[in-house]
Parts: sequence; structure tokens; C-alpha cells
Amino acid sequence: MPELPEVETVVRDLRRKLIGQAITDLWQDQTMIIKDWRKQRRRVFDPVLIKRFRRDVLGKRVVAVQRRGKNILIFLEGDICLLVHLKMTGHFLFGDWSDGQRRAENYIHVVFNLDSGTDLAFSDVRKFGKILWGAASEILNLPEIVKLGPEPMEDSFTREVLSLRLIGVRTPLKPVLMDPKRIAGIGNIYADEILWRARISPYLSARDLKSSQIKSLHVAIRAVLSRAIDLRGTSMRDYRDTSGEKGSYYDVVSVYGRHGKPCRRCRTQIVREVLRGRSTHFCPRCQPRLA
Ligand SMILES: [Zn+2]
Repeated sequence: MPELPEVETVVRDLRRKLIGQAITDLWQDQTMIIKDWRKQRRRVFDPVLIKRFRRDVLGKRVVAVQRRGKNILIFLEGDICLLVHLKMTGHFLFGDWSDGQRRAENYIHVVFNLDSGTDLAFSDVRKFGKILWGAASEILNLPEIVKLGPEPMEDSFTREVLSLRLIGVRTPLKPVLMDPKRIAGIGNIYADEILWRARISPYLSARDLKSSQIKSLHVAIRAVLSRAIDLRGTSMRDYRDTSGEKGSYYDVVSVYGRHGKPCRRCRTQIVREVLRGRSTHFCPRCQPRLA
């Protein structure tokens, strides 16, 4: 599942390649990727919905692209905003997606034709991805945006802000880091990497962190995420950028997927355990449970 660095990579690509371009036409199949934000659970293909979508987006130019948590926000002229969530396997692909090309690629469900002559496709093997649209104010007020915690890469995410998010929380630290209502955008891979870097056990209750640990946690969050953004994310399985390329962070991971291998700091074997249903990788020596 794409996490903050992967979505940030996509957002930066979209900013570079999409801003200023108008959507001239649109193709879509009958999967439920384009959704009405008022009826997101609806499972019947609705041609009227597609008609409305076409009316709202065709001829409009892209004016801005932003990220909020793992959501991609594409702002069009005329106060229209698209919210895209890649979910498990969704991705954008720039290229020539005319009929023949599209048929050769099984998982393309939506194609935006752009006035530069390039197409932007939305491909999704598992089909959990979604594209919602509406007035910018409607989209920015959706619960999935409003309820998000602070953005860990913004200047406003200080050590004090992090500390406030952890006060009184009994839950083990790892699921706390992964809770988007507490901090936006951190998923399983980067939570493991961050905790190893900060030398904190994933099992430690968030409320038991000493101030020195909060300090190292804050440094680790920034360091791990910014390195992952520089390397254009992690492609363990499905994630690709908008050119279909893999990110290379997986080549430099410290713990994720390295169980049985020596810790890069102390040579102790990395272990994998299941914590709250998620596989968790850590060094038992660098990250002792009772620290
Ligand atoms: Zn170690």
C-alpha cells in the first residue's frame, strides 16, 4: 500500500507534468473508481454519475496538485477538486493510452486525455482506488480529509506537536504512528523504519516515551520520510511512479523485510512479529521492549 513518500512522489510528478494542462476528453470502463462523495459505498455502475463527472471536468485546466495524508488533491479551474486515493494498487501512468495501447494493458480503468496530446491513465489491479470530485470546499470538508492528523513533513510539525499527539495514549507506539488521525500518512514500512532509527521498541506505550525518545522519534520521522521521498518511495510489490518506474527505498531499508538478517547497527538478527495484526520488524537489541 502506498504510504506518504510514494504518494508525495506521485504528487510531485503530477505537479510537474499536469499543471496547466486541460482535460480534453475522458474514457472509463465500468469499474467503480469514479465515485460520488455523497454515496461512496454505492456498488452499481451509474452512467448518470459519469455524465456529471464529464460535465464538471472536461475542458478544465489543472491549477494545483496537493497531498493530504495519502490523498491526492487535483484542483481544476472552476473550483472543481478531484480527490484520488490509490488504496492498495492504484497508480497514475502518463503515456499514450489510445484504444489499442489501453487494451494491451489490462488494469487501466480511467484515461484522461490532455491537451498536450499525452494521456493520464489510472490503473488499478485490485480496483480499490477511488476518484471523488466536487467543489473544492466539499472535498476539503470530507471526513477523510478533516479528520487527518498533522502532516509530518511540514515545518509546523514540531517536536511539541508530536508530543501532544502521544500524551496519555496507552497503545503501543507503532499502531499510534500508523493512525492517520494522530499523524497523517505513515504506514507499516515507514513505521518500522522510523522506530529502528529512533531505537524505540514498537511495543512501548506512546505515553511512556521519555522526552529524549520523543526527540529522537521526531528526528527519525523526518529523516526516514525525506530519504524515502528522495528515493521516490518503496516498491515492494505494486507501487510504481507516474512513468511506471519503481522507487528505490527498498534497497536501503534497515529493518522492513530484513528479518533473520543482521541489524545494520549491531549485527543482532532482526525479528519479525505480528503487532496488532501487522507484521513488525525490529532489532531486539537496539529496540529493547523495556527501554
Ligand atoms: Zn541492532
